[in-house]
Amino acid sequence: MNKEPISALQSIDKKLIVFILILLLLSISKSFAINLNEFNPDKGVIALMYHRFNENKYPSTNIRSKIFLEHLNEINNTKFEFISFNKFNEIIKKKMEKNYFLLTIDDAFESFYLNAWPVLSKRKIPFILFVSTREVGKYGYMTWEQIKEIKSSGLATIGNHSHSHEYLIDWKEKEIRSDLEKSIKIFEKELGYSPKLFSYPFGEYSTILKKIVADLNFEFAFGQHSGVIDSSKDFLELPRFPINEKYGELKRFKSIIQNLPFPYKKITPENRYIKGDENPPKVKIKFFENLIDVKNITCYSNEGNVWRKSDIKFINESELEILLKEKFKSERGRINCSLWAEKNRWRWLGIQYVIAEY
Ligand SMILES: [Zn+2]
Repeated sequence: MNKEPISALQSIDKKLIVFILILLLLSISKSFAINLNEFNPDKGVIALMYHRFNENKYPSTNIRSKIFLEHLNEINNTKFEFISFNKFNEIIKKKMEKNYFLLTIDDAFESFYLNAWPVLSKRKIPFILFVSTREVGKYGYMTWEQIKEIKSSGLATIGNHSHSHEYLIDWKEKEIRSDLEKSIKIFEKELGYSPKLFSYPFGEYSTILKKIVADLNFEFAFGQHSGVIDSSKDFLELPRFPINEKYGELKRFKSIIQNLPFPYKKITPENRYIKGDENPPKVKIKFFENLIDVKNITCYSNEGNVWRKSDIKFINESELEILLKEKFKSERGRINCSLWAEKNRWRWLGIQYVIAEY
């Protein structure tokens, strides 16, 4: 007898639940999206990545002490400051009013402690040191005592750079997870906490590695693709400019530190780990509508293992396809796009794919 009224009530309930769910979803997606009215596409954080200091037999990861001092002086001339991780964490979520620099050092080599740390300490320059826990104390690497010493200065923020520093993205999900969990345990034992920031070994990440990093509660993860960080960037795919002897030349450095952010909504394929039949990837970049005029963008890539200008095609005003004709034939497939913004200043967007068979 009461059947009808109850089912009517149930259907109202269902509609209400669906309505509430939609509202919830809307509010969640809104909180992830950036508010373009509050966003300044001309301000950002230039993160620089160094490895070895004055270990001149390793030019691809080294910077000579003299050149490093010149870099610090150049940054001093810009009047913009190096910021600590705490300050970075604060400003990156707000509307930025000026530009900043973030100094990051990967691997915790002893040469950092011997040749760069005294300079940073004297000049009170904050930095992030990314440590791979397996290597600490080995020949050529810093010890835990040295890491704790720089940590206690208040200038250093320690970040996680995995345990083994192997080519993790070639590993099975379970093995990757276990490597990172091992490093977390060691950090907890040695420092009393586990850092919430991560640097991908070799700057390489896949959808799986990124998901594990998110699952393990890391809040920021840095790669080695070039670009300027702005608040629209995915915090688990932050770009950095790698600086070494080859790319440390003063003219190039001066140009890097003038770069502006290149905001974009999305790059596909999202998985930066490319397997056989996905090479060459069909790369598309979706920009924010009406934020910056992208029609004069140029892109270069190392398709076919030769650096050359790539053909591009606009799908519509805010979406671009990069027409790679050849497969990537080395371990790293790179695409660098730039857009002239104002006198001597470029917007820079680097994409790095890792090719699985290498
Ligand atoms: Zn490294």
